Amino acid sequence: IIQVKHLSKTFGTNEVLKDINFSVSEGEVISIIGSSGSGKSTLLRCVNLLEDPTGGEINYRGDNVLARKYNPTKYRSHIGMVFQSFNLFNNLDVLGNCTVGPVKVLGKSKAETEALALKHLEQVGMKAYINARPSQLSGGQQQRVAIARALTMQPDVMLFDEPTSALDPEMVGEVLKVMRDLANSGLTMIIVTHEMEFARDVSDRIVFMDKGVIAEEGTPQEIFSNPKEERTKEFLTRFL
Ligand code: ATP
Ligand code: MG
Repeated sequence: IIQVKHLSKTFGTNEVLKDINFSVSEGEVISIIGSSGSGKSTLLRCVNLLEDPTGGEINYRGDNVLARKYNPTKYRSHIGMVFQSFNLFNNLDVLGNCTVGPVKVLGKSKAETEALALKHLEQVGMKAYINARPSQLSGGQQQRVAIARALTMQPDVMLFDEPTSALDPEMVGEVLKVMRDLANSGLTMIIVTHEMEFARDVSDRIVFMDKGVIAEEGTPQEIFSNPKEERTKEFLTRFL
């Protein structure tokens, strides 16, 4: 569904991504792991065009979304993203957070969107809080609302950038549980995470990044039990 070819990204003279190649098929769950500064967030941000890649291609259902004639707004609406820092709208309640995008950006009807939002809020266990403000919720609850909000846009692919890193330890589990259910439901997901056990359990493939390149890629079994690259081994011994 998404195919990244020879993607590069440079900030000034800092080459943050170098010749990145990978693809995600429909229903696949991919986890991206790697040290701080290896380019994981930049890669995700390029995939949904929050950053403008310096070179290469991002193909979505066969079309290069970086081509001049391609409409990036349309493409972005197919890609959901969940950030480390929730980024909910504090002036809206939980239901409003979920419906504002589809109604304002996609032009969907309010009634239809609310029904969909309620379905997704139920899915993440937050249906009882539809009238609450984000500031009244715990971090784990806010992140679950952020996931429901992204799902209400009915994306084809969901990107997660360290969705549990900003949470208190006791709230990590509830968010991972929701993500695990989503992965099992057949949603296409690309997840940047430091939760190695979770990555091993839910992913079809693991991508290990080091200094702006994909150093190794394989099944969880291959990467965690039998890494080929020295730098993968070294990274994993620091984390496991
Ligand atoms: P972490 O695990 O800490 O989140 P990461 O793998 O997500 O790290 P990135 O955030 O993608 O790493 O950063 C990769 C490199 O790109 C870093 O050297 C960072 O300083 C640089 N970088 C990222 N965003 C920008 C920016 N907007 N302007 C300049 N440099 C940037
Ligand atoms: Mg990051």
